[in-house]
Amino acid sequence: MSDRYRELSVELGERSYPIFIGEDLLGTQDLSPFVSGAQVMIVTNETVAPLYLDRAKACFPGKRVDTVTLPDGEKFKDWKTLNSIFDGLLEQRHTRKTTLVALGGGVIGDMAGFAAACYQRGVPFIQIPTTLLSQVDSSVGGKTGINHPLGKNMIGAFHQPQAVLIDTASLQTLPPREVSAGLAEVIKYGLIRDQGFLAWLEEHMESLVSLKPEALAEAIFRSCACKAEIVALDEREGGLRAILNLGHTFGHAIETYAGYGNWLHGEAVGTGMLMAAELSALEGMITRDDCDRINRLILRAGLPDRPPVGMTADDFMGLMAVDKKNVDGLLRLVLLRSVGDAVVTSNASPENLALTFARFCS
Ligand code: NAD
Ligand code: MG
Repeated sequence: MSDRYRELSVELGERSYPIFIGEDLLGTQDLSPFVSGAQVMIVTNETVAPLYLDRAKACFPGKRVDTVTLPDGEKFKDWKTLNSIFDGLLEQRHTRKTTLVALGGGVIGDMAGFAAACYQRGVPFIQIPTTLLSQVDSSVGGKTGINHPLGKNMIGAFHQPQAVLIDTASLQTLPPREVSAGLAEVIKYGLIRDQGFLAWLEEHMESLVSLKPEALAEAIFRSCACKAEIVALDEREGGLRAILNLGHTFGHAIETYAGYGNWLHGEAVGTGMLMAAELSALEGMITRDDCDRINRLILRAGLPDRPPVGMTADDFMGLMAVDKKNVDGLLRLVLLRSVGDAVVTSNASPENLALTFARFCS
Protein backbone atom coordinates (compact mmCIF):
# COMPACT_ATOMS: atom_id res chain seq x y z
CA MET A 1 0.00 0.00 0.00
CA SER A 2 2.49 2.56 1.17
CA ASP A 3 4.33 2.83 -2.18
CA ARG A 4 1.07 4.19 -3.59
CA TYR A 5 1.20 7.33 -1.52
CA ARG A 6 3.42 9.56 0.53
CA GLU A 7 2.43 10.55 4.01
CA LEU A 8 3.07 13.66 6.06
CA SER A 9 1.97 14.55 9.54
CA VAL A 10 0.73 17.88 10.88
CA GLU A 11 2.14 17.83 14.41
CA LEU A 12 -0.35 19.40 16.78
CA GLY A 13 -0.21 17.16 19.82
CA GLU A 14 -3.50 15.34 20.26
CA ARG A 15 -4.89 17.19 17.23
CA SER A 16 -2.17 15.80 14.93
CA TYR A 17 -3.30 14.32 11.64
CA PRO A 18 -1.90 12.66 8.51
CA ILE A 19 -1.89 13.95 4.94
CA PHE A 20 -1.85 11.24 2.25
CA ILE A 21 -0.63 12.28 -1.20
CA GLY A 22 -0.73 10.04 -4.26
CA GLU A 23 -2.27 9.21 -7.60
CA ASP A 24 -5.66 7.49 -7.79
CA LEU A 25 -6.19 7.37 -4.03
CA LEU A 26 -9.86 8.31 -4.41
CA GLY A 27 -11.93 5.16 -4.31
CA THR A 28 -9.02 2.93 -3.39
CA GLN A 29 -7.79 4.36 -0.10
CA ASP A 30 -9.70 3.12 2.96
CA LEU A 31 -10.47 6.12 5.19
CA SER A 32 -12.80 4.27 7.56
CA PRO A 33 -10.07 4.04 10.24
CA PHE A 34 -10.42 7.84 10.54
CA VAL A 35 -14.17 7.61 11.13
CA SER A 36 -14.99 6.76 14.73
CA GLY A 37 -18.79 6.41 14.34
CA ALA A 38 -20.98 4.66 11.77
CA GLN A 39 -22.14 7.77 9.86
CA VAL A 40 -20.42 9.84 7.20
CA MET A 41 -21.77 12.97 5.51
CA ILE A 42 -19.96 13.97 2.34
CA VAL A 43 -20.29 17.67 1.51
CA THR A 44 -19.56 18.45 -2.13
CA ASN A 45 -20.85 20.61 -4.98
CA GLU A 46 -22.62 20.23 -8.31
CA THR A 47 -19.39 20.33 -10.31
CA VAL A 48 -17.37 17.88 -8.26
CA ALA A 49 -20.13 15.36 -7.43
CA PRO A 50 -20.51 13.90 -10.95
CA LEU A 51 -16.72 13.59 -11.21
CA TYR A 52 -15.66 12.15 -7.86
CA LEU A 53 -18.56 11.43 -5.50
CA ASP A 54 -18.85 7.70 -6.25
CA ARG A 55 -15.13 7.19 -5.75
CA ALA A 56 -15.18 9.23 -2.53
CA LYS A 57 -18.01 7.08 -1.16
CA ALA A 58 -15.92 3.98 -1.81
CA CYS A 59 -13.32 5.31 0.67
CA PHE A 60 -15.68 4.52 3.57
CA PRO A 61 -16.48 0.78 3.43
CA GLY A 62 -18.86 -0.37 6.15
CA LYS A 63 -20.11 3.15 6.93
CA ARG A 64 -23.47 4.76 6.21
CA VAL A 65 -22.60 7.48 3.72
CA ASP A 66 -24.97 10.39 2.99
CA THR A 67 -24.37 13.41 0.80
CA VAL A 68 -25.13 17.12 0.71
CA THR A 69 -24.52 18.67 -2.72
CA LEU A 70 -24.18 22.47 -2.69
CA PRO A 71 -24.28 24.92 -5.58
CA ASP A 72 -20.81 25.79 -6.94
CA GLY A 73 -19.12 29.11 -6.26
CA GLU A 74 -17.55 31.49 -3.77
CA LYS A 75 -20.83 33.41 -3.64
CA PHE A 76 -22.42 30.39 -1.95
CA LYS A 77 -19.83 30.39 0.84
CA ASP A 78 -22.48 32.01 3.00
CA TRP A 79 -24.75 31.52 5.97
CA LYS A 80 -27.71 30.24 3.95
CA THR A 81 -25.72 27.54 2.16
CA LEU A 82 -24.00 26.58 5.41
CA ASN A 83 -27.43 26.10 6.91
CA SER A 84 -28.36 23.65 4.16
CA ILE A 85 -25.53 21.41 5.42
CA PHE A 86 -27.15 21.45 8.87
CA ASP A 87 -30.53 20.72 7.24
CA GLY A 88 -29.06 17.63 5.58
CA LEU A 89 -27.40 16.45 8.78
CA LEU A 90 -30.55 16.85 10.86
CA GLU A 91 -32.96 15.48 8.26
CA GLN A 92 -30.82 12.36 7.87
CA ARG A 93 -30.48 12.06 11.64
CA HIS A 94 -26.75 12.45 11.95
CA THR A 95 -25.63 12.27 15.55
CA ARG A 96 -22.65 13.70 17.45
CA LYS A 97 -20.71 10.67 16.22
CA THR A 98 -20.98 11.58 12.56
CA THR A 99 -17.96 12.52 10.44
CA LEU A 100 -18.18 15.23 7.79
CA VAL A 101 -16.13 14.87 4.62
CA ALA A 102 -15.26 17.86 2.42
CA LEU A 103 -15.01 16.78 -1.22
CA GLY A 104 -14.10 19.74 -3.43
CA GLY A 105 -12.05 22.93 -3.54
CA GLY A 106 -11.38 25.45 -0.81
CA VAL A 107 -14.93 26.75 -0.76
CA ILE A 108 -16.28 23.32 0.12
CA GLY A 109 -13.41 22.64 2.54
CA ASP A 110 -13.95 25.90 4.43
CA MET A 111 -17.72 25.42 4.63
CA ALA A 112 -17.75 21.72 5.51
CA GLY A 113 -15.02 22.33 8.08
CA PHE A 114 -16.96 25.17 9.67
CA ALA A 115 -20.15 23.06 9.65
CA ALA A 116 -18.17 20.33 11.45
CA ALA A 117 -16.88 22.85 13.98
CA CYS A 118 -20.46 23.92 14.79
CA TYR A 119 -22.67 20.86 14.38
CA GLN A 120 -23.64 19.52 17.80
CA ARG A 121 -20.80 21.67 19.21
CA GLY A 122 -18.20 20.02 17.00
CA VAL A 123 -17.85 16.76 15.09
CA PRO A 124 -14.82 15.31 13.29
CA PHE A 125 -14.16 15.97 9.61
CA ILE A 126 -11.93 14.76 6.78
CA GLN A 127 -10.60 16.83 3.90
CA ILE A 128 -10.55 15.48 0.34
CA PRO A 129 -9.37 18.57 -1.56
CA THR A 130 -9.74 18.43 -5.35
CA THR A 131 -8.20 21.74 -6.53
CA LEU A 132 -4.48 22.45 -6.48
CA LEU A 133 -5.08 25.45 -4.22
CA SER A 134 -7.01 23.42 -1.69
CA GLN A 135 -4.48 20.58 -1.83
CA VAL A 136 -1.50 22.81 -1.06
CA ASP A 137 -3.17 25.39 1.13
CA SER A 138 -6.73 25.46 2.45
CA SER A 139 -7.10 21.78 3.42
CA VAL A 140 -4.13 21.99 5.79
CA GLY A 141 -4.10 24.11 8.92
CA GLY A 142 -7.62 24.06 10.33
CA LYS A 143 -8.91 27.46 9.27
CA THR A 144 -12.60 27.10 8.39
CA GLY A 145 -15.36 29.59 7.77
CA ILE A 146 -17.75 31.47 5.53
CA ASN A 147 -18.02 34.96 4.07
CA HIS A 148 -20.15 37.80 5.42
CA PRO A 149 -21.65 40.40 3.05
CA LEU A 150 -19.26 42.89 4.69
CA GLY A 151 -16.11 40.79 4.45
CA LYS A 152 -14.51 37.57 3.20
CA ASN A 153 -13.88 34.77 5.71
CA MET A 154 -15.19 36.95 8.53
CA ILE A 155 -17.13 34.18 10.30
CA GLY A 156 -15.22 31.03 11.18
CA ALA A 157 -13.40 28.73 13.55
CA PHE A 158 -10.18 26.80 13.90
CA HIS A 159 -11.09 23.15 13.49
CA GLN A 160 -8.44 20.62 12.47
CA PRO A 161 -9.39 17.62 10.29
CA GLN A 162 -8.81 13.96 11.19
CA ALA A 163 -6.99 13.36 7.91
CA VAL A 164 -6.37 14.89 4.49
CA LEU A 165 -6.53 12.74 1.35
CA ILE A 166 -4.94 14.27 -1.73
CA ASP A 167 -5.49 12.45 -5.01
CA THR A 168 -3.27 14.11 -7.61
CA ALA A 169 -5.31 12.46 -10.39
CA SER A 170 -8.29 14.65 -9.51
CA LEU A 171 -6.36 17.65 -10.89
CA GLN A 172 -6.64 16.29 -14.44
CA THR A 173 -10.16 17.72 -14.71
CA LEU A 174 -9.28 21.13 -13.25
CA PRO A 175 -9.47 24.15 -15.61
CA PRO A 176 -5.94 25.43 -16.49
CA ARG A 177 -6.59 28.82 -14.88
CA GLU A 178 -7.33 27.10 -11.57
CA VAL A 179 -4.09 25.10 -11.92
CA SER A 180 -2.10 28.31 -12.39
CA ALA A 181 -3.84 29.92 -9.43
CA GLY A 182 -2.81 26.99 -7.24
CA LEU A 183 0.76 27.25 -8.53
CA ALA A 184 0.97 30.80 -7.13
CA GLU A 185 0.60 29.40 -3.61
CA VAL A 186 3.12 26.65 -4.44
CA ILE A 187 5.68 29.26 -5.55
CA LYS A 188 4.90 31.18 -2.35
CA TYR A 189 6.23 28.33 -0.20
CA GLY A 190 9.53 28.38 -2.06
CA LEU A 191 9.78 32.14 -1.67
CA ILE A 192 8.96 32.34 2.03
CA ARG A 193 10.82 29.33 3.38
CA ASP A 194 12.49 26.95 0.96
CA GLN A 195 15.07 28.15 -1.52
CA GLY A 196 15.78 24.56 -2.61
CA PHE A 197 12.12 24.08 -3.49
CA LEU A 198 12.13 27.30 -5.51
CA ALA A 199 15.07 25.98 -7.55
CA TRP A 200 13.19 22.69 -8.02
CA LEU A 201 10.16 24.63 -9.27
CA GLU A 202 12.34 26.45 -11.78
CA GLU A 203 13.35 23.09 -13.20
CA HIS A 204 9.88 21.54 -13.25
CA MET A 205 7.38 24.34 -13.92
CA GLU A 206 6.38 23.04 -17.38
CA SER A 207 5.79 19.54 -15.95
CA LEU A 208 3.51 21.08 -13.34
CA VAL A 209 1.56 23.18 -15.79
CA SER A 210 1.01 20.09 -17.94
CA LEU A 211 -0.06 18.08 -14.86
CA LYS A 212 2.64 15.40 -14.85
CA PRO A 213 1.71 13.17 -11.89
CA GLU A 214 5.20 12.74 -10.38
CA ALA A 215 5.93 16.46 -10.54
CA LEU A 216 2.55 17.29 -9.01
CA ALA A 217 3.03 14.81 -6.17
CA GLU A 218 6.44 16.27 -5.37
CA ALA A 219 5.25 19.89 -5.47
CA ILE A 220 2.19 19.11 -3.34
CA PHE A 221 4.25 17.13 -0.85
CA ARG A 222 6.80 19.91 -0.40
CA SER A 223 4.11 22.59 -0.19
CA CYS A 224 2.12 20.67 2.43
CA ALA A 225 5.31 19.94 4.36
CA CYS A 226 6.05 23.66 4.46
CA LYS A 227 2.54 24.62 5.52
CA ALA A 228 2.40 21.78 8.09
CA GLU A 229 5.65 22.98 9.64
CA ILE A 230 4.47 26.57 9.90
CA VAL A 231 1.07 25.54 11.30
CA ALA A 232 2.72 23.27 13.87
CA LEU A 233 4.84 26.20 15.06
CA ASP A 234 1.98 28.72 15.12
CA GLU A 235 -1.44 27.06 14.93
CA ARG A 236 -3.51 30.19 15.59
CA GLU A 237 -1.47 32.81 13.77
CA GLY A 238 0.20 34.45 16.74
CA GLY A 239 3.21 35.35 14.59
CA LEU A 240 5.10 33.14 12.12
CA ARG A 241 1.97 31.89 10.32
CA ALA A 242 1.49 35.42 8.94
CA ILE A 243 4.35 34.84 6.44
CA LEU A 244 1.88 32.62 4.54
CA ASN A 245 0.34 35.92 3.46
CA LEU A 246 3.22 36.89 1.15
CA GLY A 247 1.65 38.79 -1.76
CA HIS A 248 -1.78 38.64 -0.15
CA THR A 249 -2.13 42.28 0.96
CA PHE A 250 -1.46 43.52 -2.57
CA GLY A 251 -3.42 40.53 -3.89
CA HIS A 252 -6.56 41.19 -1.86
CA ALA A 253 -6.55 44.78 -3.12
CA ILE A 254 -6.42 43.45 -6.69
CA GLU A 255 -9.21 40.92 -6.05
CA THR A 256 -11.46 43.58 -4.57
CA TYR A 257 -10.69 46.12 -7.28
CA ALA A 258 -11.33 43.61 -10.06
CA GLY A 259 -14.53 42.41 -8.40
CA TYR A 260 -14.50 38.97 -6.79
CA GLY A 261 -14.40 36.19 -9.34
CA ASN A 262 -12.83 38.24 -12.14
CA TRP A 263 -9.32 37.63 -10.89
CA LEU A 264 -8.79 34.28 -9.15
CA HIS A 265 -7.22 34.52 -5.70
CA GLY A 266 -4.03 32.82 -6.88
CA GLU A 267 -3.72 35.12 -9.88
CA ALA A 268 -3.92 38.15 -7.61
CA VAL A 269 -1.43 36.59 -5.18
CA GLY A 270 0.98 35.94 -8.05
CA THR A 271 1.06 39.61 -9.02
CA GLY A 272 0.99 40.57 -5.33
CA MET A 273 4.15 38.53 -4.69
CA LEU A 274 5.90 40.38 -7.50
CA MET A 275 4.93 43.69 -5.90
CA ALA A 276 6.16 42.47 -2.52
CA ALA A 277 9.41 41.38 -4.19
CA GLU A 278 9.81 44.80 -5.83
CA LEU A 279 9.32 46.54 -2.50
CA SER A 280 11.78 44.13 -0.86
CA ALA A 281 14.34 45.06 -3.51
CA LEU A 282 13.72 48.78 -3.01
CA GLU A 283 14.19 48.24 0.72
CA GLY A 284 17.58 46.70 -0.06
CA MET A 285 16.69 43.16 1.01
CA ILE A 286 16.78 41.23 -2.28
CA THR A 287 18.43 42.02 -5.61
CA ARG A 288 17.04 43.12 -8.95
CA ASP A 289 18.12 39.69 -10.32
CA ASP A 290 16.00 38.01 -7.63
CA CYS A 291 12.98 40.05 -8.78
CA ASP A 292 13.53 39.08 -12.43
CA ARG A 293 13.91 35.44 -11.42
CA ILE A 294 10.59 35.48 -9.54
CA ASN A 295 8.87 37.30 -12.41
CA ARG A 296 10.00 34.63 -14.91
CA LEU A 297 8.64 31.85 -12.70
CA ILE A 298 5.27 33.58 -12.24
CA LEU A 299 4.92 33.96 -16.01
CA ARG A 300 5.87 30.33 -16.64
CA ALA A 301 3.15 29.30 -14.18
CA GLY A 302 0.65 31.04 -16.47
CA LEU A 303 0.00 33.86 -14.01
CA PRO A 304 -0.41 37.60 -14.69
CA ASP A 305 2.50 39.84 -13.67
CA ARG A 306 0.69 43.20 -13.68
CA PRO A 307 -2.36 44.43 -11.78
CA PRO A 308 -5.59 45.08 -13.75
CA VAL A 309 -5.35 47.84 -16.35
CA GLY A 310 -6.53 51.11 -14.82
CA MET A 311 -5.78 50.19 -11.21
CA THR A 312 -3.89 53.11 -9.62
CA ALA A 313 -1.69 53.66 -6.56
CA ASP A 314 -4.66 55.33 -4.88
CA ASP A 315 -6.82 52.29 -5.54
CA PHE A 316 -4.16 50.12 -3.89
CA MET A 317 -3.71 52.40 -0.90
CA GLY A 318 -7.44 52.71 -0.27
CA LEU A 319 -8.01 48.97 -0.45
CA MET A 320 -4.88 47.96 1.48
CA ALA A 321 -5.71 50.23 4.42
CA VAL A 322 -8.56 47.91 5.42
CA ASP A 323 -6.44 44.74 5.46
CA LYS A 324 -7.01 42.31 8.36
CA LYS A 325 -3.28 42.07 9.08
CA ASN A 326 -2.92 45.74 9.91
CA VAL A 327 -2.42 46.48 13.57
CA ASP A 328 -3.19 49.93 15.02
CA GLY A 329 -3.34 51.65 11.65
CA LEU A 330 0.12 50.50 10.50
CA LEU A 331 0.35 48.77 7.14
CA ARG A 332 1.83 45.35 7.82
CA LEU A 333 3.40 43.59 4.87
CA VAL A 334 5.23 40.34 4.26
CA LEU A 335 8.52 41.05 2.51
CA LEU A 336 11.49 38.93 1.44
CA ARG A 337 14.66 39.29 3.50
CA SER A 338 16.16 36.99 0.90
CA VAL A 339 14.74 34.48 -1.57
CA GLY A 340 13.49 31.67 0.70
CA ASP A 341 13.15 33.84 3.80
CA ALA A 342 10.14 36.05 4.54
CA VAL A 343 9.61 38.63 7.23
CA VAL A 344 6.53 40.51 8.46
CA THR A 345 7.17 44.21 8.82
CA SER A 346 5.44 47.56 9.36
CA ASN A 347 8.63 49.42 8.48
CA ALA A 348 8.55 49.65 4.69
CA SER A 349 9.09 53.28 3.69
CA PRO A 350 6.11 55.10 2.16
CA GLU A 351 8.41 56.36 -0.62
CA ASN A 352 9.38 52.84 -1.64
CA LEU A 353 5.75 51.75 -1.50
CA ALA A 354 4.84 54.65 -3.80
CA LEU A 355 7.69 53.67 -6.13
CA THR A 356 6.39 50.09 -6.21
CA PHE A 357 2.96 51.29 -7.27
CA ALA A 358 4.50 53.59 -9.86
CA ARG A 359 6.33 50.62 -11.42
CA PHE A 360 3.32 48.29 -11.48
CA CYS A 361 0.37 50.57 -12.16
CA SER A 362 -0.38 51.60 -15.72
P1 NAD B 1 -13.13 26.62 -5.36
O1 NAD B 1 -13.42 25.77 -4.21
O2 NAD B 1 -14.15 27.63 -5.75
O3 NAD B 1 -12.83 25.69 -6.62
C1 NAD B 1 -12.59 26.27 -7.88
C2 NAD B 1 -13.49 25.67 -8.97
O4 NAD B 1 -13.02 24.36 -9.32
C3 NAD B 1 -14.92 25.47 -8.52
O5 NAD B 1 -15.77 25.76 -9.59
C4 NAD B 1 -14.96 23.99 -8.18
O6 NAD B 1 -16.25 23.45 -8.23
C5 NAD B 1 -14.08 23.43 -9.24
N1 NAD B 1 -13.45 22.13 -8.96
C6 NAD B 1 -13.03 21.67 -7.78
N2 NAD B 1 -12.34 20.53 -7.95
C7 NAD B 1 -12.38 20.24 -9.27
C8 NAD B 1 -11.84 19.21 -10.07
N3 NAD B 1 -11.07 18.25 -9.55
N4 NAD B 1 -12.09 19.22 -11.40
C9 NAD B 1 -12.81 20.24 -11.96
N5 NAD B 1 -13.31 21.27 -11.26
C10 NAD B 1 -13.10 21.27 -9.93
O7 NAD B 1 -11.77 27.43 -5.20
P2 NAD B 1 -10.37 27.06 -4.50
O8 NAD B 1 -9.38 27.86 -5.21
O9 NAD B 1 -10.16 25.61 -4.39
O10 NAD B 1 -10.56 27.62 -3.02
C11 NAD B 1 -10.80 28.97 -2.77
C12 NAD B 1 -11.41 29.12 -1.40
O11 NAD B 1 -10.50 28.62 -0.44
C13 NAD B 1 -11.72 30.54 -1.01
O12 NAD B 1 -12.99 30.60 -0.45
C14 NAD B 1 -10.66 30.86 0.04
O13 NAD B 1 -11.12 31.78 1.01
C15 NAD B 1 -10.42 29.52 0.64
N6 NAD B 1 -9.11 29.36 1.26
C16 NAD B 1 -9.06 28.91 2.54
C17 NAD B 1 -7.84 28.73 3.16
C18 NAD B 1 -7.77 28.18 4.54
O14 NAD B 1 -6.71 28.16 5.15
N7 NAD B 1 -8.86 27.69 5.07
C19 NAD B 1 -6.65 29.02 2.47
C20 NAD B 1 -6.73 29.47 1.17
C21 NAD B 1 -7.97 29.64 0.57
MG1 MG C 1 -3.96 32.39 -0.31
